[in-house]
Amino acid sequence: MRGTSPPRRARYQSPPLVANLFVTDTPCRVGSVGHRSLPLVAAPSRVDASCRVSPRPSRDLPILTVLLLFVFMPLSARGADRTWTRSTRWSAVRTAKDGPARAIGAYNAGCVQGAVALPPEGPGFEVMHLGRHRYFGHPALTGFVRQLALAASEQHLPVLLVGDLAQPRGGPTPTDHGSHQSGLDVDIAYTRPAQMLWQPLPPAQREDLQPPPVVDLATQKLNAAWTPLVAELVELAASDPAVERVFVNPAVKHALCARGDPEARWLAKLRPWWGHHDHFHVRLKCPAGNSECRPQPPVPDGVGCDLSLAWWFTNDARTAAATRSRASHRLAGAPLPGLCRDILR
Ligand SMILES: [Zn+2]
Repeated sequence: MRGTSPPRRARYQSPPLVANLFVTDTPCRVGSVGHRSLPLVAAPSRVDASCRVSPRPSRDLPILTVLLLFVFMPLSARGADRTWTRSTRWSAVRTAKDGPARAIGAYNAGCVQGAVALPPEGPGFEVMHLGRHRYFGHPALTGFVRQLALAASEQHLPVLLVGDLAQPRGGPTPTDHGSHQSGLDVDIAYTRPAQMLWQPLPPAQREDLQPPPVVDLATQKLNAAWTPLVAELVELAASDPAVERVFVNPAVKHALCARGDPEARWLAKLRPWWGHHDHFHVRLKCPAGNSECRPQPPVPDGVGCDLSLAWWFTNDARTAAATRSRASHRLAGAPLPGLCRDILR
């Protein structure tokens, strides 16, 4: 299957760009390091309390003591650690940050405290790619997955194949995603390999599994893997009131618009996006009480089964796809809230 599969990066397209991508109201000043914008520590005279910069040493301390303190002080305490926003720092952490569950920042520039791990399998679901350690999420997200899996099994749908949630503390990932940072995003396969539709898949077989695509990207047409069972699953996910958006391939939205009630509100949450031909991406709303969570603007009025959907099948869309591919490099590294620095520690 691997030989004929598209490269791994193509499986998980970069996330939709949100209007607040470049909002820079972090507690600390934002500067530029190299070609990427990174949050920098503010000068002590202007520092916000949450930046946690060490106070200046007292003049009464002997110089040697000050030097020793400086040498042995952790980099982060000196305010000199400018590496904390790097994705490799976040992906290296293997445990969640203790404390009350908090989704912090934006979906594509944030982190999470109190994340919980989704187990490798449970009633109605199996998690793929466990070696990536991206099976952590805000409890609202893991609860959503469990609930969706139960509801799907009650409707006699196949066991869900769950892809990436977030890293243990969220944050940027070195590969595949721009979002999935605040513990509120999850990728779910549309369907299972045909021969394993009703059979369990052991973890080893799920490790490198590429779920079957339901759309041929070259022709933008649904293929034989698209069935009424898949349509039911997407509808079930989008109908959950906790769900903010569900990103799907435009051909999927087109099929669902044509299928049923064009006024169904859940259809509005289906957002057409590039890729998403072998999985859909569910994004939850900011959980109640998580005041540091930055919501996305609401979806536009209407259900989106109109010209805005038709655009995705035009030459303009194909041109935009090429432009987007170049732009995605520039968009990497949106500034993280300064609060996330404490979450990484
Ligand atoms: Zn995703």
